Amino acid sequence: MATSAATDPPPSPDDPLFPAHRAPRCAGLEALDAEVIRCRACPRLVNWREQVAAEKRAAFRDWDYWGRPVPGFGPADAALAVVGIAPAAHGGNRTGRMFTGDPSGDFLVRGLHAVGLASQPTATGADDGLTLRGVRMAAPVRCAPPQNKPTPGERDTCRPWLAAELALLGPRLRAVVVLGAFGWQALLPVLRDAGWEVPRPRPKFGHGAQVVLAGGGDLAELRLFGCFHPSQRNVNTGRLTLPMLEEVFRDAAAAAGL
Ligand code: SF4
Repeated sequence: MATSAATDPPPSPDDPLFPAHRAPRCAGLEALDAEVIRCRACPRLVNWREQVAAEKRAAFRDWDYWGRPVPGFGPADAALAVVGIAPAAHGGNRTGRMFTGDPSGDFLVRGLHAVGLASQPTATGADDGLTLRGVRMAAPVRCAPPQNKPTPGERDTCRPWLAAELALLGPRLRAVVVLGAFGWQALLPVLRDAGWEVPRPRPKFGHGAQVVLAGGGDLAELRLFGCFHPSQRNVNTGRLTLPMLEEVFRDAAAAAGL
């Protein structure tokens, strides 16, 4: 006999429906973060994050790798969000904090510090004392993927975590810096789900792109800023320079009233 939906047990952390079930039920960011780190909904990513954590990179052999989903980082009343792709295998997947412990994070935090949004120019570990002013860093995919490339299915499975995070920030959120085309494509449906009006056709990603989304209910107008991802390739080739990053952060901070 079929069991009614009302009496079905809630999905376990390794069920693909776990994020969609749990994320909207979290009353605050602390509760959300506690649920995110339990998630095992994507078998390929769970295997990868745990394999990397067990094998380690030689330079970090003394580290006790985090090896779990990485929650957002920054104050719960942030007016500006910075959204990337996913944690790095030996960065966030090692330290347990978004954009911490890898060259991309170093570059990003240098940029934030240069415009007064970070307390220090380095991000080396979760206990390094770094604080962000009015900024919350998050990602559409919370587990480190092989080759930094999540599949569309993994992106969609993980989407409810970011949607809930932005909805919880929502009443105060004024601006989002989106790092790279993957984050841009992933974020637009998340913002629509969270209650902002996304124009059609969907706005295209580009470095320096700016889009204004109308709010609704208790959501204010939101300004999106496109920025090249601070990947090692983009930084080493000069596609993204520190002055370029600072300019985006300066404009976004002004839009967010920071
Ligand atoms: Fe869960 Fe997201 Fe990690 Fe998939 S990527 S296991 S949905 S936290």
